[in-house]
Amino acid sequence: MTIKCNKCKHDAIIFQKYSGMHLCKKHFSEDVERKIKLTIRKHYSVKRNETIVVGLSGGKDSSTTLYILNKIFGERPDIKIVGLAIDEGIEGYRPNTIQSARELTDRLGVELIVRSFKDEYDTTMDEIAPKKREKGACSYCGVLRKSLLNKVALELGASKLAIGHNLDDEAQTILLNHLKGDVARMVRLAPPKELEGLVLRMKPLRQVPEKEVALYAYLHDLPLGFGGCPYAHEAMRREIRVMLNDFEVKHPGTKYALLSGFDKLSGILGKEFPQVGLSKCSICGQACTEDVCQACKLLGRNQ
Ligand code: SF4
Repeated sequence: MTIKCNKCKHDAIIFQKYSGMHLCKKHFSEDVERKIKLTIRKHYSVKRNETIVVGLSGGKDSSTTLYILNKIFGERPDIKIVGLAIDEGIEGYRPNTIQSARELTDRLGVELIVRSFKDEYDTTMDEIAPKKREKGACSYCGVLRKSLLNKVALELGASKLAIGHNLDDEAQTILLNHLKGDVARMVRLAPPKELEGLVLRMKPLRQVPEKEVALYAYLHDLPLGFGGCPYAHEAMRREIRVMLNDFEVKHPGTKYALLSGFDKLSGILGKEFPQVGLSKCSICGQACTEDVCQACKLLGRNQ
């Protein structure tokens, strides 16, 4: 006997252990979209005449972010949505994901902009990765990509930069920062405030579990992603991911509890660790907290 949706008579396609609900395709999709609308309303209120840039990696998370933002705001003539894909120069991985991003934006009728590390920094991750370096490849990639996303979003006059971090990403990062004792970094994880020179980053999926993002993407024929990046070696995050998934099975709602506990704490922490004022990087002009930004330091431009 098939199990029925708790909200209608159709067959359920998912059981949310944390909520105790069986949901059919329609009510599951509505639930995901409801969580995203609530997150946007609570943390990132979108006003009239805004441009929202969506960082697109071609995977399930950013594709779902674009799809749902376009569903919510796409009909509004005063809101512009633009997809932005960064080509870090990772052969055998990134070209396929950019092709997926292109197919999705074509399908949705959304403009796609592609910018590359090669054009911006005159290097690629394939060139950086084999070199002797102080930090892991993802640290270089993450800092450079974040900087380029912000730069292009500013050029486009955007007021929001949406990224596809889901509940699992957020819960893992909160725990990772706890385990490293990195409180300052934890504070920066809180939904941000507007700062000059930094386009406000929004994470519409932060209340949606990764498995549900994957199911939503599958049900709506969105890209699911291509294999893994060859440079992904964040061992500690992988361990935390396994541990949290195990906890979630034994204690449903653990990931939500971590996030909501963090949201309550972040206001208090923000008073102890106030956001430092931003200045302009003396080399590239991007907003930063020191004389030279992290991207320029990692590229050795300050030597
Ligand atoms: Fe960049 Fe690391 Fe992601 Fe690969 S896994 S795209 S190196 S951040």
